Amino acid sequence: MSDIIESVKCMIIGSGPAGYTAAIYAARANMFPVLYQGTQPGGQLTTTNDVENFPGYPDGITGPAMMMELQAQAKRFGTDVRDGWVTKVDFSGPVHKVWINDTKEIHCETVIISTGASAKYLGLQSEQKYLKLGGGVSACAVCDGFFYRNQEVVIVGAGDSACEEAHYLSKLCTKVTMLVRRDEFRASKIMANRVKNTANITILFNTETEEVLGDGQVVTGVRAKNKLSNEIIDISATGFFVAIGHKPNTDIFNAFLKLDETGYIINKPGTSKTNVNGIFVSGDAADHVYRQAITAAGTGCMAALDAERYLASREG
Ligand code: NDP
Repeated sequence: MSDIIESVKCMIIGSGPAGYTAAIYAARANMFPVLYQGTQPGGQLTTTNDVENFPGYPDGITGPAMMMELQAQAKRFGTDVRDGWVTKVDFSGPVHKVWINDTKEIHCETVIISTGASAKYLGLQSEQKYLKLGGGVSACAVCDGFFYRNQEVVIVGAGDSACEEAHYLSKLCTKVTMLVRRDEFRASKIMANRVKNTANITILFNTETEEVLGDGQVVTGVRAKNKLSNEIIDISATGFFVAIGHKPNTDIFNAFLKLDETGYIINKPGTSKTNVNGIFVSGDAADHVYRQAITAAGTGCMAALDAERYLASREG
């Protein structure tokens, strides 16, 4: 353990649109924010190719380029952007303690948690290959569906997200094939019925993904297997969407903060406040519904404003 303990007014954990937006607001309010980037600097957007739905970029922008711009904007106002991984916290006392890489201890007047959530993937080698190439694998239909308009796509999953995304894709794509691993949906009846009643969605129950097919650059189809008959089928598709759930990156906070059953941090409605004074949350760590860069940025702004008001109220 390092014996030099640093004190900061505002600690921001995470470097997606929520964290950087919080940093821009906190820096401009003289809160001298320190932002730790984590292991995936830039967050989920760095695995997205083109971002076309963030207002202010009429020609679109790549995810990584957008993150560089957000970082530059946060730095311009004095945000101290650092490499490092927050490995432990202690929010039990009047001083909020945060440890970086298990060694450096920092005492914080306020903490803004923007650690995001990670999309779950199947883990198939071919899926990961085309995901990394940006060649047709996505975990966000709202982000990437537009690139597949008038094309055929496959989506895997059977929860509310999969149904919502399949329905969204059905309005853009000529055909959506949905792969459901069991003989029923997990989704609510209303969402499942919406999918069942959409003409250009084909649902294949008891079906698992064997392989994402491609030409080495882009996806060309999906090989699937019926678990009951062992029949293998190749489905033609240019896009493969994975909608099997997200995992919020909140494990280190669960001893101190109220989380829901999936691990999302519970904020006080209409605010970024958590159950601990001085600890705020923004972005996907608290949002399993919208999960968009723009909503993350909006809640990052809220968190910085809530933190500023909290500090002002303590000063008297
Ligand atoms: P869920 O955990 O609800 O569903 C995940 C789905 O993915 C399950 O159907 C599961 O199958 C399937 N799955 C998991 N692993 C695999 C795999 N390896 N291969 C194939 N299929 C797999 O996640 P969601 O993201 O759908 O929803 C999360 C929460 O958010 C839920 O509470 C949901 O209700 C809520 N939500 C609400 C919405 C709304 O109300 N508008 C919209 C979106 C989400 P199986 O069923 O066999 O386990």
